[in-house]
Amino acid sequence: MKRNLFFTTLILLAIGCSVGRYAASNKQYKKQAKAFAKELRKQPAAVDSAIMAGYWAGTTNFGMRKPNFVIIHHTAQNACDSTVSFFARPATQVSAHYVICKDGTIHHMLNDYLRAWHAGNSKWGSLTDVNSSSIGIELDNNGFEPFPEAQISSLLRVLKKLKKDNNIPVANFIGHSDIAPKRKVDPNRYFPWQQLAQNGFGYWYDTAKITSLPADFNAMQSLRIIGYDTRDTAAAIRSFKLHFVQQDSIPKLSEADKKIIYDLSKKY
Ligand SMILES: [Zn+2]
Repeated sequence: MKRNLFFTTLILLAIGCSVGRYAASNKQYKKQAKAFAKELRKQPAAVDSAIMAGYWAGTTNFGMRKPNFVIIHHTAQNACDSTVSFFARPATQVSAHYVICKDGTIHHMLNDYLRAWHAGNSKWGSLTDVNSSSIGIELDNNGFEPFPEAQISSLLRVLKKLKKDNNIPVANFIGHSDIAPKRKVDPNRYFPWQQLAQNGFGYWYDTAKITSLPADFNAMQSLRIIGYDTRDTAAAIRSFKLHFVQQDSIPKLSEADKKIIYDLSKKY
C-alpha cells in the first residue's frame, strides 16, 4: 500500500512538472497576445486629422497576413530543452515559431500569424524585414553534426502543413545563412537541402545537360537574382556553397559551380 502511494506521488509529481514546465512563459504569451488583440480592435489614428475628419470607414473584407517564407536554422546548442527555455526568457530577445528536437519532438512556440525574432539583420532579394514575412524553424543541432532522420521527418511534416496553409512558393524555403551570408552559417553543411527540394521545399539543380555557359553569363549577378545579398562576394559564395555545394567551402566559383548557379537562376 505504502509502495503504491509512493509511486502514485511520483507519477503526480511528474505530471505536475510537465504541466508546470512552461506555465510561466505560457502565461506571459497569453498576456502579450491579448495586448495585440486589443491593439487590433482599436480604430487606427488618422494619418492627418486636419483633412481626415470622419475618416474611418471600416471594411468588412480582410484577413490575417500570412507568412510567405520559411527560414531554417540550427540552434548551435547541445540540448533541445535549453533552446526552448532560451526562447521563453524575455532577456534573450530571440525566438522561433518551431523548435524541432533530434528525436522528432516538435515545439510550437507562437502562432504562425505572429512575428518571431529569428532572422535578425537579413536580406533576400529586396526583402529586408524577413521576420515579418517568414516562419522560423530551429533544429536542435550543435552546428557540426548531421540531422537525424526523425528530426527531418518531423520537419517535412511541419513544412507540408505550412506550405499548404499559407501557399508558400517552392523557392521560399531557405536557410538562415542564405539570408545573412556575412553573419550566419546555419543550418550546417549536413542539412539535406536536396531531400527537401525533392519534397517540394526549395529548388535543386541539374547541370547534366549544360555543356557550356552563355558568353555573357555573370555568376554574381545570377546569385543576386536567386536572392543572395552579394555586397560581400566571398560571403555570398560561401553561403551559396553551404546550401548547394556542401562539400566545398572555398569562396571561389569553379566552372561547375557556375553551371549550378546558371541552372538555379532560371528556377528562382
Ligand atoms: Zn539561425
